[in-house]
Amino acid sequence: MVKSARSPATRPGLSSAELAVTRHLLIHGPSTRQDLGDHLNLSYASTSRLARALVDGGMASEALVPETAIGRPRQVLTAVPAARHVVGCKLTADTAYGVVCDMLGTVRATARMALPKPDARGTVPFAAAVTVIARLVGRLARRVPAIDGIGLAVGGVVARRAIVTEGTFLGWRDVDLATPVAEHTGLPVIVTNDVTALAREQLWFGAGRTHSTFGVVTVGAGLGFGVVREGIAVEELIDNGHLLAHAPVDPRGPRCRLGHPGCVAAYLNREDIEDHAGRALGRPVTFDEIVGASDAGDPAATDLISGAARALGHLVATFAGALQSTCVVLAGEDVAALTASPAMNEAVADRLRPGPHEVQRCALDIVATPLTFTDWARGAAVVGIQHVLGVV
Ligand SMILES: [Zn+2]
Repeated sequence: MVKSARSPATRPGLSSAELAVTRHLLIHGPSTRQDLGDHLNLSYASTSRLARALVDGGMASEALVPETAIGRPRQVLTAVPAARHVVGCKLTADTAYGVVCDMLGTVRATARMALPKPDARGTVPFAAAVTVIARLVGRLARRVPAIDGIGLAVGGVVARRAIVTEGTFLGWRDVDLATPVAEHTGLPVIVTNDVTALAREQLWFGAGRTHSTFGVVTVGAGLGFGVVREGIAVEELIDNGHLLAHAPVDPRGPRCRLGHPGCVAAYLNREDIEDHAGRALGRPVTFDEIVGASDAGDPAATDLISGAARALGHLVATFAGALQSTCVVLAGEDVAALTASPAMNEAVADRLRPGPHEVQRCALDIVATPLTFTDWARGAAVVGIQHVLGVV
């Protein structure tokens, strides 16, 4: 066990009604008893009882706010951010990026540690990686009074919030990551796909505040997809995103690694773009170099970035149409360069353009959030917060 990762085992869990109130306060901010009752369909007596229980348990504070018009002062309930702290950790192929967050998802400290080098088969040694994660948690635990739980995020397929069925960048297959990390730290652990973590973070602290259904697309080292439907994040995608990633854009286009001519991935996947540019130039070239060349006016590089941006526009339109949501969140390291190209919005606008006798108009709310690895780790932390609060 990590000595400094003190497990506050004495803290009682929240009842489902207490959780509903806490969740409302975290997502929507301070609220009067009256507003809470209206939103959560609770009687005034129930709301008062719940408010008292949360204040007594240190989860919320309550203050009297004078009414501006005639009337009694109102009791305003506010979540106490420091009531819980959670470590979030995003694993890439070579690094564990960690943050410790309070209950509002505010990052209190960050840290990173190198993961062990992969073996000859390209697999990152599992037991040594668990030790690194536990040490990272221990380091972050020293920065806050106590840690209540851990959220871990990995690229690939995760089952039952614990098992890495397919760790895309780590070479892991069917390994239980939650149990050994919980044993090392003595803390509750939840493991999730990294884009699902981002979707769950957006559900509470981003797009979910205004949209109950939305999609998340990440563009960086690989294409990633997350789905929130009617306020619930889809935990495991049926296809790991293949159906959207390989949707056709232009049959005359370049081939993806699976051999599809002109699919979304062929245009948009970073490695595919680098391959296409490298073949044209006769030397290896990185995505950032292509962006730089495009910004400097190189026509071939601009074609590649425009093609990727256009494919992203088609992907957004297809995703929004299939989900029947007006909101798609674009995130990831490469998203800024692509949304800066007019080709993305042109593709979306063309897809939305109604026919001459059609009256229905629709606008899409496309939110672009370029992410650092710290932001990814924060997504994992928010999943950890939801886990320790008892969100199913
Ligand atoms: Zn393809």
